[in-house]
Amino acid sequence: MGRLFAIEIIYRGIFQKTLARNISRAIVLAAHKEGKPGISFGRYGDSPERNGIPAKSFAIVATDDVTLEEGMAKYEPKDVDITICVDDTLAKGVESWAWYGLQPVNKLLKPGGTLIVTSRLEADPIIAMCHRKETPYEMAILKAIPSFSGLWVYKDDHTDVRILGAIAKILPDLFSLKSVQAAITDEWHDAVKVTSAARAYEKLTTVTVKPTQGNPEVPFKFDLPKWHEMGEGIVIPSIPAGHKMEDPGTHATGGYKPDRNPTFKKFSTRTMRPVVDFDTCIKCTLCWLQCPDSCFDVTPEGLYDANMEACCGCGVCEAVCPVPNCVTMVNESSFHDNASQWVAWRKDKTNYKGWVQEKIKGHGERSHGFRYLGQYEEQVPEMLDIATKG
Ligand code: SF4
Ligand code: SF4
Repeated sequence: MGRLFAIEIIYRGIFQKTLARNISRAIVLAAHKEGKPGISFGRYGDSPERNGIPAKSFAIVATDDVTLEEGMAKYEPKDVDITICVDDTLAKGVESWAWYGLQPVNKLLKPGGTLIVTSRLEADPIIAMCHRKETPYEMAILKAIPSFSGLWVYKDDHTDVRILGAIAKILPDLFSLKSVQAAITDEWHDAVKVTSAARAYEKLTTVTVKPTQGNPEVPFKFDLPKWHEMGEGIVIPSIPAGHKMEDPGTHATGGYKPDRNPTFKKFSTRTMRPVVDFDTCIKCTLCWLQCPDSCFDVTPEGLYDANMEACCGCGVCEAVCPVPNCVTMVNESSFHDNASQWVAWRKDKTNYKGWVQEKIKGHGERSHGFRYLGQYEEQVPEMLDIATKG
């Protein structure tokens, strides 16, 4: 029995699909340079993959054909040597539109495996976002924005080859930097990309994440019904009508909160969330009318509270709100819970105002939903500079 290597790439559906495919394919090509057979594939050929939805690609490599065949006799790997996360807001977990609950980003990592995250953040805030894991693992940060590299309209920022260089350093038994560089030359015919891979290899460092570090919350999950629990025919329970909201201070009731799907949450679908300044809201209803996911709960006093179990972070509410800075989309990495902003405002308006100001400061940072046309292209030269100089 030879050795099997498994690598998963966690990405934002559609926007980063080509990037993930290029990375998983190049992993296999680099391994081929050392005579190791392999295969790359996407996780969701049979299910929806939509804009921003967390999704996965895998690369499986073995030291011989028989070991590879054995490794492939599963729908997807149960554990991996390396997890690659190409959007740091996914460190909060992976909740695809194809399964059940929230999967910690480090869940499949073998003990001592490595999580590579592309991010402008340092390791500590990313570790804080990741759920705790029973066994220690390594974390490596590649300084980068969430890349759109490979998407047909966006320019290459070398994220793909930088990750390959990082893998060669982390897992030298899989392939060497020399093999990575040979594969890049064959695939892209680009000497600068070869340099970027070498810089990532040279500069890469890792930190050990202990079982006591990270988000202690139990990830959201639910039990799927067993086949013998299902009745004959198909019964799809309807979602009940909504109900009034209750003011946390006065206990007055009013407004309207629609009931929502109890199992389908969108905690990690979004990369940004709206921050609402209730003091400046003019109750025009536009956000409530235009939100494609019906996220807004109507409060007893007629304000609109974006419900974070339903929001997918599309930014429409910010775009339609006529009051400057009343709704501001803020990078998801700035938040650590999904609590109601309206409840916080009702409890302490002065404190809430300070919270809003602090959150929207520097909100121009791009997440995958860039803030104005051309912003990504402006950032690519900076990323290339980091890629080639390290
Ligand atoms: S960002 Fe705004 S419009 Fe979009 S889903 Fe969230 S609350 Fe609705
Ligand atoms: S669009 Fe803006 S001003 Fe209008 S109700 Fe929504 S938050 Fe208030």
